[in-house]
Amino acid sequence: MTGAPAHDETSGPSDHHRVVIVGAGFGGIALAIRLQREGVEDIVILEKEHDLGGTWYVNTYPGCQCDVPSLLYSLECAPNAEWTRTFAPQPEIEEYQRGVADRFDLKRLIRFGTELTGADWDPEGRRWSIDTSGGRMSADVLILAAGFLSEPSLPAIDGLDRFEGTVFHSARWRHDHDLGGERVAVIGTGASAIQFVPAIQPDVSHLTVFQRTPPWVTARPDRAFKEWEHRLLRRSPLAARVMRARIYWSRELLVLMFTRYPRLAKLAAAGARKHLEAQVDDPELRQKLTPDYALGCKRVLLSNEYFPALCQPNTELVTEPIREVLPHAIVTADGVEHPADTIILGTGFEATEPPVARRVRAADGRTMREHWDGSMKSYLGTTVAEFPNLFLIIGPNTGLGHSSMIFMIESQANYVVDALKTMAARNIASVSVRPEAMAGFDEEMQHKLSRTVWSTGCASWYLDASGRNTTLWPDFTWQYRQRTRRFDADRYLLSRAT
Ligand SMILES: Cc1cc2nc3c(=O)[nH]c(=O)nc-3n(C[C@H](O)[C@H](O)[C@H](O)COP(=O)(O)OP(=O)(O)OC[C@H]3O[C@@H](n4cnc5c(N)ncnc54)[C@H](O)[C@@H]3O)c2cc1C
Repeated sequence: MTGAPAHDETSGPSDHHRVVIVGAGFGGIALAIRLQREGVEDIVILEKEHDLGGTWYVNTYPGCQCDVPSLLYSLECAPNAEWTRTFAPQPEIEEYQRGVADRFDLKRLIRFGTELTGADWDPEGRRWSIDTSGGRMSADVLILAAGFLSEPSLPAIDGLDRFEGTVFHSARWRHDHDLGGERVAVIGTGASAIQFVPAIQPDVSHLTVFQRTPPWVTARPDRAFKEWEHRLLRRSPLAARVMRARIYWSRELLVLMFTRYPRLAKLAAAGARKHLEAQVDDPELRQKLTPDYALGCKRVLLSNEYFPALCQPNTELVTEPIREVLPHAIVTADGVEHPADTIILGTGFEATEPPVARRVRAADGRTMREHWDGSMKSYLGTTVAEFPNLFLIIGPNTGLGHSSMIFMIESQANYVVDALKTMAARNIASVSVRPEAMAGFDEEMQHKLSRTVWSTGCASWYLDASGRNTTLWPDFTWQYRQRTRRFDADRYLLSRAT
């Protein structure tokens, strides 16, 4: 069977497919490529946006680029010799994704502008009944590649809704709004903010950056690729693999610092302090920018331009907490009013509360969110007890502080593909992870995480409301690759096809 036509006219009771994937970011793209390679042709990808790319389609803020070298932050099955820089800017990553979709003929599988609004496991039919903005459909297997950094986190600040200027989140950049000559307030100093702050600083009349906690910032070893490197990458797949492997293994060494020997973080912190000292002369500003928690506890950021931007005469760093927003200003706890024409929220994403978990329901009628009861749990970050034939891409505890998420996605793709092969070979209609397997995995994650730098007491988006770290993988990524190489059917309740 082939993929369904790419539009809603076909939606209806007969709109049934072997696999429905939600999301056309790197996750959905990687899964579709692997499944097609294994001969699974009946695939539909639901994408609520009007183009593919996910993170890299939505985040178009000035200065947006990856913070893992592009030779590693790309699909193993689609190496790219044309990156212009070692850390590619967002438009290039988006273009790369489009190129991959063309090369593997994926666009015909995608239903753009179609949002999954609900999905119910049908225990009799042993399939997923799916509601979308384009109609009803069903699938034997549901893959949620809906992104863990896709729902903007909006701060609950008193008066924000009454602000009379322009307000937007960095992931919803208002390109129609000219910041030139404006007084701009930026709330947040995370990974996105430190990229767009230096990009907008030269254009605005005044920039006020509101910082709750200073991030650790280290130098970004970004540079343009040389022509001979391009030639080598084009001509020699082996050289490309060696260059990628060099980056991969050098980043794996960081796992030792994050998870085994947190004391190594002190050495790295000394390097980051030097970077700060070299870029910021003003002792008071330097003090405000010096973190008081272990390096790595929150995401380590890379920038050569952020500190210099904060040193410019039109920029002010405010560390006093925000009390409220007035129609034309932000007021801090000390009563000072900071006038603003535009507020940009660099406040990150809802990493521990994926919206899609509110939309999928087990046979008991309860959503995945209700099953999680405030804190995500899974087996291998991929399957959840009571949710048969459902696979999460970048589910709980698969996030990384040091390497490429695409490596994790492609590991999960191996697992899902092997699960489908196992089902076909053994005539199995549904697989559902055993609750004890999930509990064991969750316990293992929490135990390992308790000894890492991420558990040294800072507040970070890695932790959920209950204080559990449900986002990060606490080990080497090659271990994750090993554990997801084969589908371990003995950890699952299997139901045979009749
Ligand atoms: C600014 C930024 C920079 C980043 N930089 C890096 C980096 O340098 N290195 C790294 O490893 N990672 C980075 N990440 C993490 C990045 O999100 C992952 O690397 C990767 O792109 C995730 O791919 P994904 O397909 O899982 O999710 P996404 O790219 O978020 O794609 C999910 C897709 O699902 C769609 N979707 C969601 N819900 C529904 C629904 N109900 N119905 C239909 N469609 C839906 C969304 O529209 C989206 O297109 C970054 C993230 C951000 C936000």
